[in-house]
Amino acid sequence: MTRTRGFWHPGTHHPAVDHGGGLPWPRPVEVERVLGFAARNGCKPFQGGHLRKTLVIHYDEIALKGRNRGAFEDHLVRGVREITRDLGPVSVQKLYGRILVRGKDSELPLPALAARVTLLPGVRYVLEGGETGQDFDAILQAIEDSLPPQEAVGTFGVRAKRGDKSYPLRSGEIERRAGAHVLERRSWDVDLVDPDFWVRIEIVNGRGLVCTERHEGPGGLPTGASGRGIALLSGGIDSPVAAWMMMTRGLRLTGLHFHSAPYTNQRSQEKVRDLARHLARFQPSFELTMIPFAEPIQQAIVTSAPQKYRVILYRRFMMRLAAHAAAAAKAGCIVTGEALGQVASQTVENMATVEAASSLPVLRPLVGMGKAKIIDVARRIGTFDTSIEPHDDCCSYLMPRSPATRSNSDELDEVERVFDVTALVEESWANRQSETLRQESRL
Ligand code: ATP
Ligand code: MG
Repeated sequence: MTRTRGFWHPGTHHPAVDHGGGLPWPRPVEVERVLGFAARNGCKPFQGGHLRKTLVIHYDEIALKGRNRGAFEDHLVRGVREITRDLGPVSVQKLYGRILVRGKDSELPLPALAARVTLLPGVRYVLEGGETGQDFDAILQAIEDSLPPQEAVGTFGVRAKRGDKSYPLRSGEIERRAGAHVLERRSWDVDLVDPDFWVRIEIVNGRGLVCTERHEGPGGLPTGASGRGIALLSGGIDSPVAAWMMMTRGLRLTGLHFHSAPYTNQRSQEKVRDLARHLARFQPSFELTMIPFAEPIQQAIVTSAPQKYRVILYRRFMMRLAAHAAAAAKAGCIVTGEALGQVASQTVENMATVEAASSLPVLRPLVGMGKAKIIDVARRIGTFDTSIEPHDDCCSYLMPRSPATRSNSDELDEVERVFDVTALVEESWANRQSETLRQESRL
């Protein structure tokens, strides 16, 4: 049985994350108790039997952001509130570098809540557990109540963290005593590197938390901390990966897809919608805008421009429409799934020629990645299977036989003279359709 799992590093344990060194506890150990501590500190003593189920979110780089820390934490708190909104009243509390989440009136099913919260950018890991008072007896009792049967596991480890440094026991001492308590009840071996069963104790602000499940999050920065961006989503493998990568750098994204109906079938739009629904698990909601591209833009290009420039011209028009989408969403950048040299259109020269038509910075998080790495991320974030479903990207009528691999923007400015660029862009923008996708309730 492994009690540490997560989406980013499934089933793996991170010694570097929260585990210091430490020696196994000597046994037998005399179990001293911190009796009277609860009364002195005005905490309610543990009532026994009932623990309040709580998630403890530990965040990633936010902690390093110095004076901006408060703002970064607020972005994450907002994200947690938004993504749990449909689940009923949820209490989200910021405490000592952690965020505590639980049902307000009733208890929510913790694993389902954890599954949702763990995917949020900025979350390093989430612990699932129960809350007691700070009284050490109560903590030991809670640990005892959450132990699996003797035969279920062979090894265990205890980790303690004090958010509240006024607590009379240091973390190492808490670990030793709690470990000794477990050893009195189970004859397991101690393993502090990769045990079958972890007991994690957190002391925060009048609370003791005893957690036995850990889920790994993606880390990075919380949604909105870096502003907003427009993600160009094509329906392939790369663009959802690029979107996810920038989401974990704190961008709140709006998706933009150009479709070539009636030359492509309905399913290709449905596929992009499915991908956007996947991405809606990583930010509280995901807006997707679809723009018909065959008419008038592609038609005009096919009719009036040299064939070899078609793809570059399509991309330049995409940039212009993305700028409209950015203005509407108050976004400051465009995100694409381009990787250098992956296909003929993705040369440095062509990237420059396309970007010259953009008034905003174009972020290409995959630019230096090979296909195998990109596929690896696509599998981890769950978009791969949808991305490889067959779809008509663009029909052969609209594609050139041999696309230009080199170009420059002066050349393209010249080619575009035959078009009324502004009118084409305005007309296409007016034909857009937008929808907001949210994570479906799974509780
Ligand atoms: P992907 O796997 O994302 O489809 P790709 O390897 O097929 O990428 P291209 O088709 O050259 O590469 O597209 C490069 C990038 O341009 C895409 O990752 C995407 O960001 C954007 N893009 C391409 N086609 C479209 C489209 N129809 N709608 C929106 N964005 C697009
Ligand atoms: Mg593609």
